[in-house]
Amino acid sequence: MQIIVQKFGGTSVATSELIKNVARRVVQTKEKGYDVVVVVSARGHTTDELLELAESVSPHPPERELDMLLATGEQVSIALLAMAIHELGYQVVSFTGYQAGIYTDKAHTKARILRVEPDRILRELKAGKIVVVAGFQGVTEDLEITTLGRGGSDTTAVALAAALKAQICEIYTDVDGVYTADPRVVEKPLKLDFVSYEEMLELASLGALVLQPRAVEFAKHYQVPLHVRSSFNQHEGTRVEEATKMEEYRLVSGIAHDLNVAKIGLFNVPDRPGIAKQIFKALADEHINVDMIIQSWMRDGRNDISFTVTRNDLHKALPVVERVANEIGASGVAYNDRVAKVSIVGAGMVTNPGVAAAMFEALADEGINIEMISTSEIKISCVIAEDQAIKAVRALHAKFFEQQS
Ligand code: ADP
Ligand code: ASP
Ligand code: MG
Repeated sequence: MQIIVQKFGGTSVATSELIKNVARRVVQTKEKGYDVVVVVSARGHTTDELLELAESVSPHPPERELDMLLATGEQVSIALLAMAIHELGYQVVSFTGYQAGIYTDKAHTKARILRVEPDRILRELKAGKIVVVAGFQGVTEDLEITTLGRGGSDTTAVALAAALKAQICEIYTDVDGVYTADPRVVEKPLKLDFVSYEEMLELASLGALVLQPRAVEFAKHYQVPLHVRSSFNQHEGTRVEEATKMEEYRLVSGIAHDLNVAKIGLFNVPDRPGIAKQIFKALADEHINVDMIIQSWMRDGRNDISFTVTRNDLHKALPVVERVANEIGASGVAYNDRVAKVSIVGAGMVTNPGVAAAMFEALADEGINIEMISTSEIKISCVIAEDQAIKAVRALHAKFFEQQS
């Protein structure tokens, strides 16, 4: 029998009524003759509330214990959803990440899935049951509970879909699909019918939280077709698939913004081989992801180097950078955690040199100062002041999507 993996996010299971709604949708798919594996997130704002709870006890808790706490959110959801499905008269079993065979590395709070052992899920499907799996969590080889980073239930779903060779992975959320910008920010965003894995990966990595970037990476690698759609209606959503299947390239597909950004600068860094390695290896050793590295023109054998990290990692990154700055003889370290990143993404921009200029023009027209720029073949990102981010997204959306004649 064909397998379908369906993932329901936090807002889709926020209340008992909504959980019953999800149960009905799952059962409809089962009735169509599919084996169904359902992945659920913690209800509503549970994960945020658990984070606040942790912080009220300890400002920077041990990450192992944080994972122990955060994983409970999803466990509540799986049990309740299984009860609701049972209530509809169907056979069902719920599994934690461990029971579902999801093994990760040891990077607590942002663990990566290393492998999935789906035997137990397959056995239960074969026995005719619907299987409900807790998103966002796994275990290490030593059976320590880990979580996969915010939005990680998407990745659980795609990893399971790949391991089970599912026909499709459906991501049910609180919007109708992937839009040209965050519908919470832009008044009239356009829904995309299709988006390529590459574009979606950029959009997600650059802050479009509708899918976790790692989920898109997995989907591309294992060629899992994704369908992002609403759990509240039957509208066709957005299909995420290989670019070759799409009819045409768009110049710009979407605008993304990310407020979870901090900028760090090292001043008067000696200009010699091995220095960049020393800085960024020290950060990598602490599992701190670095983005947008800028090294300026050398003066008197010295350079300034600046880069961005996620704001959550700033408190971990600063002591590391200060230590390395001392070791290499840099004159100082500064940081700014009130910055944001705005980006435009589109497979068509690689062949169109005017796109960057249009982006800078849109920002300039709003009097927005650009602090850092980085480009790739299919994206351009600018770091700007955080309090200008929303204005910037709206200006860019107007420029690229609202002025077409
Ligand atoms: P879930 O709990 O279902 O995983 P998320 O909050 O993680 O839902 O993701 C859905 C949200 O992503 C939407 O409510 C929307 O505000 C936000 N979002 C940001 N950028 C986009 C985009 N380009 N298209 C659609 N949604 C987006
Ligand atoms: N509950 C987790 C979060 O809020 C995982 C998820 O929703 O995908 O980030
Ligand atoms: Mg999400």
